Amino acid sequence: MRIHRPSAPEEAYRLRKEIAGSAYLLGGTTVLTLGSEFEDLIDINGFIPGAITAEGSNVVIGAGAKLEDVASSGIVPPVIRTAAASCPSLQQRNMAAIGGNAASCRADGYMTAALLASTATVLVYDGSSARSILYYDYIKNHEPEWIVLSISVDSNADGTVKRISRASHMHAVVTAARCGDHYAYTAMPSAIISGVCDCYKDMVLESDTLGSAEYKRYLLSVIFEEGNDGNKS
Ligand SMILES: Cc1cc2nc3c(=O)[nH]c(=O)nc-3n(C[C@H](O)[C@H](O)[C@H](O)COP(=O)(O)OP(=O)(O)OC[C@H]3O[C@@H](n4cnc5c(N)ncnc54)[C@H](O)[C@@H]3O)c2cc1C
Repeated sequence: MRIHRPSAPEEAYRLRKEIAGSAYLLGGTTVLTLGSEFEDLIDINGFIPGAITAEGSNVVIGAGAKLEDVASSGIVPPVIRTAAASCPSLQQRNMAAIGGNAASCRADGYMTAALLASTATVLVYDGSSARSILYYDYIKNHEPEWIVLSISVDSNADGTVKRISRASHMHAVVTAARCGDHYAYTAMPSAIISGVCDCYKDMVLESDTLGSAEYKRYLLSVIFEEGNDGNKS
């Protein structure tokens, strides 16, 4: 395995474009696992910010901030902190960065539903400039070479996130988040949606080892029933 250490987004982007099958290395909890498929890793820790700062009415979370930093921050809204804390292992929370998680766009993502429901924006370097886009648009339209530099959320984002899994350390079967009247739902293996409360009805659900499509649809239909609050594992 070769590790490349660019000092700026422009160089990292160029390397990622030039080296087929390479990946960015941030926390490394995915790309450094045993049997990793990547021969070339582009270590972006040298220039990715990791600070969490209040800027006007927003909290800006550097993509390099660890999930544990996010979970324990006094200025990050509770819905985002709860999502970061849903990563069940302290060791993993101390390694995994929010940027690596957001960039992975996983349907069992610790952060996916909460970032969508809170209409978070991401600052991305897209090869020509750094620009801010909705996380929803990042999921739908990003190119693999784009670099997430930071994530911005409304400091007053008021909501809740619920993750349902067979056990806390297992993949989430479904995750749901709500901020005001904006909702987001994810379901393994690949369904992600955000919108109004019952937008989960438009999800194309598949059966897998975590459960049948019918089971997932049932979970999604009751997850925000009145009086049904808190995380479930
Ligand atoms: C046992 C185990 C269980 C796991 N379970 C879950 C789970 O249930 N839910 C979940 O969400 N994750 C899970 N993960 C994966 C992982 O721990 C998290 O997704 C983590 O947050 C990834 O962040 P990282 O900083 O470690 O990313 P890295 O491993 O460094 O990178 C992950 C991916 O993101 C890309 N990337 C990294 N940083 C950026 C950036 N700034 N811009 C653009 N692309 C970038 C890389 O190219 C790579 O493809 C699990 C991992 C393990 C080992």
